[in-house]
Amino acid sequence: MRCRIVRKNRKLVMFISILIVIATLLGLLLFLNIDKLSIERLKHRKITDEVLDYATTVVHFVDVGQGDGIVVENNGHYLVIDAGTNDTGKNMIAYLKSLKVDVIDVVIGTHPHEDHIGGLDDVINNFEVKKIYMPNFSATTRSYEDVLKAIKKSNLQISNPKVGTEFHIGTALVTIFAPVKKYSDANNNSIGVKIVDGDVSFVLIGDAEKIAEKDILNTGFNLSADVFKASHHGSTTSNTKQLLEAINPSIAIISAGKDNDYGYPHREIVALFKQMGITMYRTDESGTIVVSTNGKKIKVSPTID
Ligand SMILES: [Zn+2]
Repeated sequence: MRCRIVRKNRKLVMFISILIVIATLLGLLLFLNIDKLSIERLKHRKITDEVLDYATTVVHFVDVGQGDGIVVENNGHYLVIDAGTNDTGKNMIAYLKSLKVDVIDVVIGTHPHEDHIGGLDDVINNFEVKKIYMPNFSATTRSYEDVLKAIKKSNLQISNPKVGTEFHIGTALVTIFAPVKKYSDANNNSIGVKIVDGDVSFVLIGDAEKIAEKDILNTGFNLSADVFKASHHGSTTSNTKQLLEAINPSIAIISAGKDNDYGYPHREIVALFKQMGITMYRTDESGTIVVSTNGKKIKVSPTID
């Protein structure tokens, strides 16, 4: 009798043990799967429709028509990257004033083309600028001379970009990674920066073209970023697949003018972004695009949906 109870108990213990092992295995499988899912989500993690409780970095891709005009904001500190054209410099002034900006910590004129530096003199003349970076590449245009005059009037000195230079805008870390060398044309001399806030990063390289992109890739700099400002307004001269693979962005912002004469963004680049699963936002369609982050999540707010 006792023997039977012991045997019965042993069977029960065995049964429970097997159940525990199966449950553990199932749990482990489920855990691994969830882990895998969360990793996948992490990759495209960061775009959210929620209202962020707070944003540490806000990047404003201002609608300046056919050109670039970008304001990076972090805890009351500002970085301006390009400032639109001669005609839309006033839009940049109005935009910065709407943000209640007095002092701009750093201004970057990526390269001396009018669609990037046309409005820079307006910005320098209307705000206190502490530092200005421009590539070691000059132009003989009226737009460029106006910028030089404004710089002189403000007692500023142009700093030439050096690869590897780092500075902070508030808590965001900015690293200059281009131009890698001096080129014979303006576009390739574009200043490239990576902006990092927590887990979230942005890469912008002005109008750099294929040859400069190749040289940047050869430096081995870690280009990986969540947000990429499409180079050269989404032109096929730039945005090579190799560069996009290295950046692997979730979001691309295209700054281009509505019905511009150049056909920007080129349809091949739009197709490539789509093929690579990159979500695109275009200033020619959405007006000014504001990208906010708390260092973990990203929220994109186009002015026009
Ligand atoms: Zn341009």
